[in-house]
Amino acid sequence: MTRAVSLFLEARAGIAGVSSEDSMDDMWREDGIFVRDRMKTATAFLFLLAFASTACAQPCESVQCIDTLFRDIYSLKLSRASAVARVREAHALLRSLSRKGGIERATSAAWVFPLRGHSAGSIGGRGTGYRGAASYDFFSGNSHGGHPAHDVFIRDRDFDDLDDKTSKPVDVLSVSAGIVISVTASWSPDSMDAKGRQPIRSGICAWIYDPVSDCLFYYAHLRRAACTVGQTVRPGDRLGEVGRTGKNAYPHRSPTHLHFMVLSFRDGLPRPRDIYPELLRASTR
Ligand SMILES: [Zn+2]
Repeated sequence: MTRAVSLFLEARAGIAGVSSEDSMDDMWREDGIFVRDRMKTATAFLFLLAFASTACAQPCESVQCIDTLFRDIYSLKLSRASAVARVREAHALLRSLSRKGGIERATSAAWVFPLRGHSAGSIGGRGTGYRGAASYDFFSGNSHGGHPAHDVFIRDRDFDDLDDKTSKPVDVLSVSAGIVISVTASWSPDSMDAKGRQPIRSGICAWIYDPVSDCLFYYAHLRRAACTVGQTVRPGDRLGEVGRTGKNAYPHRSPTHLHFMVLSFRDGLPRPRDIYPELLRASTR
């Protein structure tokens, strides 16, 4: 873009020195480039510049920008092509932040189970709830297929978000180290999707990027988020509390649970990964 602008300014400077009476020979410059051709090229660049600025936003240069990008993808505000390109750029930014030491790192040996006081026995169907990874599409917003995730249940027979034994909320803990890249801090049953037909699926949720596994960790249906975008986390850090927000979690037919999904980057794009074996080994807090 900068090249296009400087080329245009150069071309303008060249044209300014050429009056209408100048012969064709005078319009040759010392470097042998014909000024008129330069101006045509510069005009074409400017058209491209104008088109590009309306067709897609600039690549993200901050984690806050990635937060906005994720919300825009979830509410289908971007074209698919634009969303795919921008997620690739966001991934490159996160890799670069990690190389500069701006993100916490820990191997999977240090991973912590995502609900305080719970372990793998609280995972629905002993891990068989993870299904449909092939039909899941990160870019389809509120209406993706499959359930390439694990639901981790708490004891909450009266659906008040609180553990029936302790009468307290259950903390959601970060499994991995990483950086918080997106948080949805509020939700109500009236939060409709892009078509205005059904409540937004995820409810209150948080996304963490872990540079060691190169994965996104997604924690959804929270009662409350206790983390902020840009914050770095260690395994076991508190991200929020289990709740019942989101389209499928809100109705009383659904027992209170954490929806936990991991997406692994392949070719710069997030695709589901089943970390049930790692959850079996994760330490409990
Ligand atoms: Zn789920």
